[in-house]
Amino acid sequence: MFDYTLSTTDGAARAGTFTTPHGDVPTPSFMPVGTAGTVKGLIMEEVEELRARMVLANTYHLYLRPGHEMVRRLGGLHAFMRWDGPILTDSGGYQVFSLTDIRSVHEEGVEFQSHIDGSRHTFTPESVMDIQRTLSADVIMAFDECPPGGGDRATAETANRRTYDWLRRCLDRFRALEQEVEGPAQALFPVLQGNVYDDLRREQARQFVDLHDWRGYGIGGLSVGEEKEDMWRVLEILDQALPRDRPRYLMGVGYPDDLLEAVARGCDLFDCVAPTRNARHGTAWTSEEGQVNLKAARFREDTRPIDPGCDCYACSRYDRAYVRHLVVSAEWLSVRLLSIHNLRFLVRLGEEARRRIGDGSFDTWRRDWLERYRNERSLV
Ligand SMILES: [Zn+2]
Repeated sequence: MFDYTLSTTDGAARAGTFTTPHGDVPTPSFMPVGTAGTVKGLIMEEVEELRARMVLANTYHLYLRPGHEMVRRLGGLHAFMRWDGPILTDSGGYQVFSLTDIRSVHEEGVEFQSHIDGSRHTFTPESVMDIQRTLSADVIMAFDECPPGGGDRATAETANRRTYDWLRRCLDRFRALEQEVEGPAQALFPVLQGNVYDDLRREQARQFVDLHDWRGYGIGGLSVGEEKEDMWRVLEILDQALPRDRPRYLMGVGYPDDLLEAVARGCDLFDCVAPTRNARHGTAWTSEEGQVNLKAARFREDTRPIDPGCDCYACSRYDRAYVRHLVVSAEWLSVRLLSIHNLRFLVRLGEEARRRIGDGSFDTWRRDWLERYRNERSLV
């Protein structure tokens, strides 16, 4: 049901296909985030038009509202959100550690207060497997401890020990649920922690690889405020440490330049809320001018598309002058159009990276692309 075929490599960059029960995902691939079971502001036909193959949903949010049992009663996540393609749910760990008032982290799990109504809850490795089994996404993530960025080595060591212990419990529960609870085929990905400490990263990768033949690997604990150089070095270490015939999902990345740098270091799957969040701030990505804010006065009578090289609905239909007018007028349509554009921008970047890996021109193309994007960005 789950398979990964590596078709071509160019340096460490990889083009492949991740097969799931709900369809194939050509990699590298950006996955739009549907936090509460919706890619904010878009209908699913629009998500399909972006040519996004796999979408993400957040366990933490769906557990709190409307509740995972209700989602199950309404047919499971695919039926509930009307998406027939592959879905990945995260473990809720990141949200518990970043959004809530955590009451305590202990060996058993994490006690936290809901950011919605302050009610108290506990996530354990077992309960998180139960919830994700109930939601019934194709790919589910193990419950890990994600300490905040910039933490010291002792904190990272403790988090790694706990993450490994929790992973074994997740695997036990996952296997038991597969036997005992009727449901769709699912793949469980572990989440690698270790902050920016090379030896901890290597040790954890080795532990995980030895524990089980995972269908894929989540790379966590990056893009949380560390220096870019540290992130790139860790990815190079993991590229060597992880099996080549399994997809690597770099969690929470990213911005266009980060995505390309990570592809160059062997990552295959990506997600980030930036495309829709930036859209709410009137910001768009462009291949010739980097990141731009449409509020700028210079766009007032600019009759070019948001990004002249883009094939999205917003760029095919409207010009910058009109989108700027919508942004400064705080019209809802500005958020929709910029969300469509920013999401398509990242999906298209994955498609082009894949094509370039295929014909062996990835590295040259990536360097040119980044130079253009970053130079122009510094002028804005
Ligand atoms: Zn566009």
